[in-house]
Amino acid sequence: MAESTVRIGLILPDVMGTYGDGGNSVVLRRRMRMRGIDAEVVEITLDDPVPDSLDLYTLGGGEDAAQTLASRHLTRYPGLQRAAERGAPVLAICAGLQVLGRWYETSDGRRVDGIGMLDVTTSPQAVRTIGEVISEPLTDALTCALTGFENHRGGTALGPDAAPLGRVTHGVGNGAGEGTEGVLQGSVVATYMHGPALARNPELADLLIARALGVDTLAPLEIDEVTRLRRERLAVR
Ligand code: GLN
Repeated sequence: MAESTVRIGLILPDVMGTYGDGGNSVVLRRRMRMRGIDAEVVEITLDDPVPDSLDLYTLGGGEDAAQTLASRHLTRYPGLQRAAERGAPVLAICAGLQVLGRWYETSDGRRVDGIGMLDVTTSPQAVRTIGEVISEPLTDALTCALTGFENHRGGTALGPDAAPLGRVTHGVGNGAGEGTEGVLQGSVVATYMHGPALARNPELADLLIARALGVDTLAPLEIDEVTRLRRERLAVR
């Protein structure tokens, strides 16, 4: 592997990959390789300590029991926390968002400590939310609507250090009545959007890549399938 290879950490795909969120790391690698940037995915499983030396990290969704294992592992090996502190971008999806928070309550009412990277807490909502979700980004770094598929019981409340990623225009997002979707805090981008999110939202993929590379912009990429998928999903509105 060349020294210039960008290394994408896929955190705990063995327990936090139920909804195909591992695809986010594949999208990141593909979009870098298409631009001539060498990139590799490094899988970090429950058998591995979490390295703090990677360039970019992704963390997927999962069931309540799986995310409890993930919380314990990330607490025991705090490499992700150290990497985020030095500014490495982190993408966290659904249960990943919840695990990065202060605590979350499982659907049977158990409170589990998160790893405290995000100023959020999560409690079960009256009903599970399943369906398409669309939001308008609340950051100048993104210009396109975000789309995804949400499937979660937990509803997330944001504290003062956490900012929402988007304003919901279709679906539920962080929680019934909140009207917001996802979280931005430091180098972390977190969202309830499965899809995988980066296959559906290439602008978000490129934002993470640009941050990992420390550049302001990237050469645009035209991929017909991605454009078609976006158009199809936005039509839900
Ligand atoms: N188990 C969590 C919930 O139901 C997260 C689900 C997920 O990652 N899709 O809220």
